[in-house]
Amino acid sequence: MLMLVAGEERPALDGKRFEVSNPYRGEVVGELPDAGPRDVELTTKSARAAVLGWATTPVYERADILLHFASKVRQQSDGLALLLARENGKLLHHAKAEISGCARLFEAYSGEARRLHGVAIPGDVQRGHEHDIIFTRREPFGVVAAITPFNFPISLFSHKVAPALATGNVVIAKPSEYAPLTVMAIARLLQEAGLPSGVLQVLSGTGPELGRALVGDPEVDLITFTGSTEVGLQVATQAARRLAQVRLELGGNDPMIVYPDANLDDAVSHAVFSRTLENGQCCAATKRFIVHSRVLPDFVERLQASLAPLNVGDQLLETTKIGPLIHTTAAQRCASQVSAARSQGAELVFGDGAPDGACMSPVILRGVAKTADVARNEEIFAPVFPVVPFATQDEAVEIANSSHYGLHASVFSENYRLGLSTARRLESGLVAFNGSGLYKPDAIAFGGYKKSGMGREGLAAMSESFTQTKNVALRDVYQ
Ligand code: NAD
Repeated sequence: MLMLVAGEERPALDGKRFEVSNPYRGEVVGELPDAGPRDVELTTKSARAAVLGWATTPVYERADILLHFASKVRQQSDGLALLLARENGKLLHHAKAEISGCARLFEAYSGEARRLHGVAIPGDVQRGHEHDIIFTRREPFGVVAAITPFNFPISLFSHKVAPALATGNVVIAKPSEYAPLTVMAIARLLQEAGLPSGVLQVLSGTGPELGRALVGDPEVDLITFTGSTEVGLQVATQAARRLAQVRLELGGNDPMIVYPDANLDDAVSHAVFSRTLENGQCCAATKRFIVHSRVLPDFVERLQASLAPLNVGDQLLETTKIGPLIHTTAAQRCASQVSAARSQGAELVFGDGAPDGACMSPVILRGVAKTADVARNEEIFAPVFPVVPFATQDEAVEIANSSHYGLHASVFSENYRLGLSTARRLESGLVAFNGSGLYKPDAIAFGGYKKSGMGREGLAAMSESFTQTKNVALRDVYQ
C-alpha cells in the first residue's frame, strides 16, 4: 500500500517502509511508507494550495461527496472490517460496527454541515451602534492535522475528518503506526468519492518523528489529537510555541461507583461490557470499580462468574470474546502494572496477570487502597478490574475525583437523588447513571475534564471545534 499525498498514491520520499502485523497471529497484514519530515513538507504545501478552493466549494457539494463516500463504505464494509480486525486485534463484529459507524458519521456530518450558520446581531444594544447591523459567518481554519491512536482507527478518523471536511477545512491525517491500513483504504474511497486533490491526505509512519514534524509545521493551522495524555502534553506544548489551535482527546481512568442499593446484576454486566470491549483498550471504559464495602464481596463474586466463561484469543474466531492487545509490549506493560498494584497491597483474586503473547486474560484486583496508583492516575489499557472499597458518598466521590483524569464516570444506585447528587459532584465529561461510562452517542459533545482533554468532539461540538467566527459589520445601514 502507498500513502495519499497531493491526490496521488505515493511512497515516502526516502523510500522507507514499515510492516503492520496481526497482533494475535503475528503474520504481516500489510506494508506502508514510513514518512518523514520531507514528506510532511510536501503534504502541507499541497494542503495549503487546496485551502481556498475547498473553503469556497458550496456546502451542498461538500456534503454530497461525504454522502457518496458513505455509500461506498457500506458497499465494501465486509472487506474493510476484516482488514481492521486483522491489523488491530479487535473482534470481527466490533470491526463491522466500527465500519458501519464510519458511514453513519459521514452521513450525519454532511447533514450537520447544511445547518451550519451564523447569526445576525442588531447594533442598537449599545449607544453609538444603532445604525449598524452585524452578521457572523462560521469559517474553516484552513489546514487541519488529525492524529489518531490505534484503538478505534476508523471511528476516531471519522469523528475528526468528517466534521473538518464538512466545515470546509482540508485535512492531513496521521493514523497510528499500529493500525493504519484500514484508514488508508478508507482514504482511497474518499478520494474516489470526488474530493479534489490535496483536500485529504494521509501520511503513514511512526509517531514521534512524523507526528512531531506535522505538529511543528507552520502550514498546519489546527491539530486535533486523540491519544495518551503523555503525548497530548507534548503536542500541546509544541503547538503552543507557534500558537496553533489544538483539540485534545486524551487518556482516562474512569470510575464506576456502586452504592449498596445498586442492582448488582446490572452493575456487573456493565462493568464486564465496558472493561472487555476492544479487549480492554477503550479510552472511556470504566477502569476503577469503587464499590461499597457491604456489597463488595458479592460484586466480586458475580464479576468472577461473568468473566470465567470468556474465551481469550484469536479475534477472528466467533467463539472469542476477548482478543489480543495491540502488541506484545502492551501485554507486558499491563503485567507490570498488575504486579505494581500487588506490591501496593492489592490482592489478585482472578486471572494470573501474566501475558500470553499479545493476549491478557481478565484480572480482578481486590482490596485496592484508595491511594494506590491504579486507584488514581495509572491507566491500564487491558481487561483489568481494580476494586476499591468505600464507606460513604463523600469517600466515593473523593476517590473518584482523586485522579488527574476526568473522562467519563458512572454511578449505580436505585436512589435517583443519591445518583444525581453524586453525578453533580464528579469531575468528568460525562456521568452515566445506572449504565457504564462507556457511552458515546454521536450527538453528545464528547471530551474530558482535567488531563483527559481540551475541547469537545461530536455532532454537538462540530462548529466550535472546526470553525472560527467572522463578524461582518454593515455600518450606517439604518438612517
Ligand atoms: P499514543 O499517544 O501513543 O499515540 C497516539 C497518536 O500519536 C499515534 O498516531 C502516534 O503515532 C502519535 N504520536 C506519538 N508521538 C507523537 C508526538 N510526539 N507528536 C505527535 N504525534 C505523536 O496513544 P495510543 O497508544 O495510540 O492510544 C492509547 C491512548 O489513547 C490511551 O491513553 C487512551 O486513553 C487514549 N485515547 C483517548 C481517546 C479519547 O477520545 N479521549 C480515544 C481513544 C484513545
